[in-house]
Amino acid sequence: MSAATPTPWMLADGREELFFALQGHQPAPVADRRPLPGRGDQSTQLRFDRQTGQWVIVAALRQERTYKPAPDECPLCPDPSGLAGEVPAPAYDVVVFENRFPSLAGAAAHPGQAFELPSTDVDFVAAPGHGRCEVICFSSDHRGSFAGLAPSQARLVVDAWRHRTEDLLSRPGIAQVFCFENRGEDIGVTLTHPHGQIYGYPFLTPRTTAMLSRAREHEHRTGRNLFADILADEVGNGTRVIARNELFTAFVPFAARWPVEVHIYPNRFVHNLTELDETELDGFAALYLDVLGRFDRMYPTPLPYISALHQYSDTDTQRLGYFHVELMSVRRSATKLKYLAGSESAMDVFISDVTPEVVAQWLRELAR
Ligand SMILES: [Zn+2]
Repeated sequence: MSAATPTPWMLADGREELFFALQGHQPAPVADRRPLPGRGDQSTQLRFDRQTGQWVIVAALRQERTYKPAPDECPLCPDPSGLAGEVPAPAYDVVVFENRFPSLAGAAAHPGQAFELPSTDVDFVAAPGHGRCEVICFSSDHRGSFAGLAPSQARLVVDAWRHRTEDLLSRPGIAQVFCFENRGEDIGVTLTHPHGQIYGYPFLTPRTTAMLSRAREHEHRTGRNLFADILADEVGNGTRVIARNELFTAFVPFAARWPVEVHIYPNRFVHNLTELDETELDGFAALYLDVLGRFDRMYPTPLPYISALHQYSDTDTQRLGYFHVELMSVRRSATKLKYLAGSESAMDVFISDVTPEVVAQWLRELAR
């Protein structure tokens, strides 16, 4: 891996931190001198829902987490004193560290230890919250945003995502690596500093499981890859494609669920970021920035969004999974948000107030 061999560091309570640097920059972290409590009590729990076959994470310790701090108390800004934040350093480009308030923490408590989900055919099945939760700071600029990153900086974030994907996938008991960003207070962001999160789940998530099951049926019926067919069909139809370069394509999906929803696919089938070459990584960063820029030009204020990287391993269960990004926003007009109400929350049936074709047209017109 070229650009992204990070400088490892350790926080006061033993959490790992990784500094990813632009060419020519040398990270210079200082000792974290905060009197942090130990992590012995970071127990979270998985509980199995017998009705749906889905796992629920119970992480009561997260109630104590940092909530909308004052700008001069931001824990993600560089802290040269080593006394005040999560990044003890005079400066940084991109930094990743284990979440102090993790939903899944078992992998940290017992590094390297094998983990297996328990059998689920008895009542009240629970398991330790095995897994890993990391925070990734996209920039040291507190007021910045992903859309405002320089291409080289965006590429460094992509390199960091890629590094974390490879590392976490290689750890025992991690079934899926999920890099994501929640952006905007409207969707519950408690820290405004530009950052995202990385989860290493001990199981395949329900949405991933459903998509892979569809992909297996499709392959059985046609002999082809479902995701590759979706991409080819969207490109062939064209009405929902919003941007495309030689290596990546962005479109509003045919059955979009959210008021604004865009999927970004590599034009070549890969399972995850680690299988992309250097040129493709640049192409991905470029198209990703392009789409986020359009998002922020839709309304007078920046669009709140969730960005979800769908990544798969090349194991047998996941071999049909095609890396792509799904971006979604709850904003349905300049002043209105979509709330997940009865049909969506209770029954998983989404009702959209706009046609995907109209949104795609709008986003096409917002090209720079
Ligand atoms: Zn900050």
